[in-house]
Amino acid sequence: MGSIVLFGPPGAGKGTQAQRIMEYTHLPQVSTGDMLRAAVKAGTAIGLEAKSYMDRGALVPDDVILGLIKERIEEDDAANGVMFDGFPRTIPQAEALSQLTEITHVLAIDVPDERIVERICGRSTCGTCGTVFHDVFNPVPEDGCGCSQYVEKRRADDTESTVLTRLGAYHEQTSPLASWYEERGLFHRVDGDRAIDEITTDLLNVLQ
Ligand code: AMP
Repeated sequence: MGSIVLFGPPGAGKGTQAQRIMEYTHLPQVSTGDMLRAAVKAGTAIGLEAKSYMDRGALVPDDVILGLIKERIEEDDAANGVMFDGFPRTIPQAEALSQLTEITHVLAIDVPDERIVERICGRSTCGTCGTVFHDVFNPVPEDGCGCSQYVEKRRADDTESTVLTRLGAYHEQTSPLASWYEERGLFHRVDGDRAIDEITTDLLNVLQ
């Protein structure tokens, strides 16, 4: 078994789909964004270095990210592979990753730019269980999210101005990875501008 990469612009639904696909693949979700946010919150040296990049929507330097990833995939639960969410984001990251673990599928969730701002600016997560919601497209049920204690969390970088910088970083630094993975026969594209369930079905079809 190898690892899977979930690929796509910010707000494409990578985290939402990772949580759903996990039920079938049983591969743990490895989100570099979540790891960095945890480092910022804990006030570690990595967190302090990453924060200024994240606040303005720029990519954190490759060496910082690769340090985190190398440690993470050494953990026991990563022995059969993982599902990367938001990583790799540059060609050097993908090149380094190819030396560390086998990638079997790159699942690209396609969403047009004009839909990204509305998707990101309405999103929230439950601080207890991590389930992702959207004010309009996927609202929190009236009786909460179903976990022990629903706590609404919104990301500091989910603002309109930061989203535009993040989208710029995606087009300049991350989207060239699509052809890099296409050349290696690993790239699968699904239309992400549809109902959440339909996207999950397509992604699972690719994996079967
Ligand atoms: P995300 O949660 O994936 O949207 O990531 C939030 C922020 O963390 C990004 O805007 C970047 O500043 C940083 N980040 C996350 N993953 C990476 C990565 N693989 N390479 C560089 N920066 C990253």
